Amino acid sequence: MTHLSHLECPRCGEELDASRLQNLCGCGSPLLVRYDLDAMSKDVSPKDVEAGREDMWRFHKFLPVPEEEIVGLGEGMTPIFSLPDAGPEIGAHNLSLKDEGFNPTGTFKARGAACGVSMARYLNATTVAMPTAGNAGGAWSAYAARAGIGCVVAMPQDAPLLTQQECSLFGARTYLVKGLISDAGAIIGRAVERYGWFDASTLKEPYRIEGKKTMGLELAMQLGWKVPDAVLYPAGGGVGLIGIWKAFEELEAMGWIGPERPKMIAVQSEGCAPLVRAFEDGRRDSDFWEGAKTLAGGIRVPKALGDFLVLDALYESGGRAVAVSDEQILEALRLVARTEGLFICPEGAACVAAVSSMIADGYLDPSDEIMIINTGTGLKYSEVVDVDLPVLEVDSDIILDDGGVQT
Ligand SMILES: *Cc1c(COP(=O)(O)O)cnc(C)c1O
Ligand SMILES: [Zn+2]
Repeated sequence: MTHLSHLECPRCGEELDASRLQNLCGCGSPLLVRYDLDAMSKDVSPKDVEAGREDMWRFHKFLPVPEEEIVGLGEGMTPIFSLPDAGPEIGAHNLSLKDEGFNPTGTFKARGAACGVSMARYLNATTVAMPTAGNAGGAWSAYAARAGIGCVVAMPQDAPLLTQQECSLFGARTYLVKGLISDAGAIIGRAVERYGWFDASTLKEPYRIEGKKTMGLELAMQLGWKVPDAVLYPAGGGVGLIGIWKAFEELEAMGWIGPERPKMIAVQSEGCAPLVRAFEDGRRDSDFWEGAKTLAGGIRVPKALGDFLVLDALYESGGRAVAVSDEQILEALRLVARTEGLFICPEGAACVAAVSSMIADGYLDPSDEIMIINTGTGLKYSEVVDVDLPVLEVDSDIILDDGGVQT
């Protein structure tokens, strides 16, 4: 039994039946999943959750999937690391990172895919289809394989080779597109019409948000049912940020946290910053970003379908949207690796890079509890790190430039 009630359109208020597969609202907006929170609060307590299974499904009462229908690979319950050395270097003395790189397929996309694929199969889809920049395709392919349903993926030709390999290896029907993710999306859109596949594109189905919501639920639990002062999230489509925000709203309705909220901060790259531009103009929607370019592929999203949901959360929380350069991203990635032993992804590194300017201008305080969502492992991005290593002949000795002074 779940506490799923209905699907609701956050734009026009329309309510839709949650007992069958749905995509967008008639008005074109993404749909949100609603629950009977009264019944839920009688059925589950913080203690139940704390003693629950060691993956994100310890929160299954907050999710639409009946327990016996869960398709899982061990996603969620990712660790939080403090950054005691990297933090102070950028002026933040209480900086932490929730490391989503520990998920199956190496990114938090696993959370959305676990929930999305579980619901798709439960509601009788036989094939799911989507465009992807890479990581979502890898995750959905894995969960579709686990669930025994078909998966069709279209990705730009320059999507990371590793993600192409994942999709193919997991048995998805995988296509490369001579164009952008938006072009791949148009091709998938025509194919789902023709073949009756379930369109699982970002925010075109309501369940991915629910999976990603578990990041916010876990975060509150891991902090002792409290929220930090600020959450920094690398926003592409912004699904994770929408999910985390929704988690806090539901936890408050359950009486598990109070009304306090972190500043929600969306971080983008200067080469693709549609949400930042909209935020700076005080708008509730964004324009298509022409010529999107950044090495952080997960946030190379020129136009987010749920832009108004992201922007609402930023405004309501007193948050911000900020952009950083690719050079700053690489510098932050190297800093965290060198000082903390963590190989974070460029998207997570963008958040680290964003911290120092916000402390410098007084928006964040050096003592604030700042939480970065590191959305994936750097191991999926080996191509972004250049190395130039000395090469030894087999009989040569190591001669240190500094004469071998031990540091
Ligand atoms: C997809 C992705 C993002 C952006 O996620 P949204 O929720 O769509 O904003 C960030 N980082 C990584 C590593 C990703 O794969
Ligand atoms: Zn609507």
